[in-house]
Amino acid sequence: MTVFETRPIPATGHTPGNWVDSDPATCTEGGTREQLCSKCGAVLATDTISPKGHNWGAWEGGSEPTCTSGSNETRTCGDCGATESRSEGALGHDYYLAYTEQDTLTNPGSVIQIDHYRCSRCGDEYTNSYSNGP
Ligand SMILES: [Zn+2]
Ligand SMILES: [Zn+2]
Ligand SMILES: [Zn+2]
Repeated sequence: MTVFETRPIPATGHTPGNWVDSDPATCTEGGTREQLCSKCGAVLATDTISPKGHNWGAWEGGSEPTCTSGSNETRTCGDCGATESRSEGALGHDYYLAYTEQDTLTNPGSVIQIDHYRCSRCGDEYTNSYSNGP
């Protein structure tokens, strides 16, 4: 009678050493690392490294937002030099009723009232006219 024996696979004898970045991660892309045998340098295990993420500096270059355009600021990654910008929203005009006038000539017999609105910040104007009579 034949007996089949199963034998444990002999230990390889490697000595797990430090993990080494074989393909270092960047800000946006992951890499890989390997655990090497400290005696013979064989690769015993591999692992993935997640992206580091950008190392953003401070927001810079912000200009004051105006009625019609926002302020743009930029920041730069200290590691890879990538830039990112953001803009604050435009303020929008701040109109007030500057003055009114009456037009009696365009339509004889009726009075057209014209309201002039002006932006307190940039001076932009618009008018709103309406008939003020029969
Ligand atoms: Zn080894
Ligand atoms: Zn970066
Ligand atoms: Zn304005």
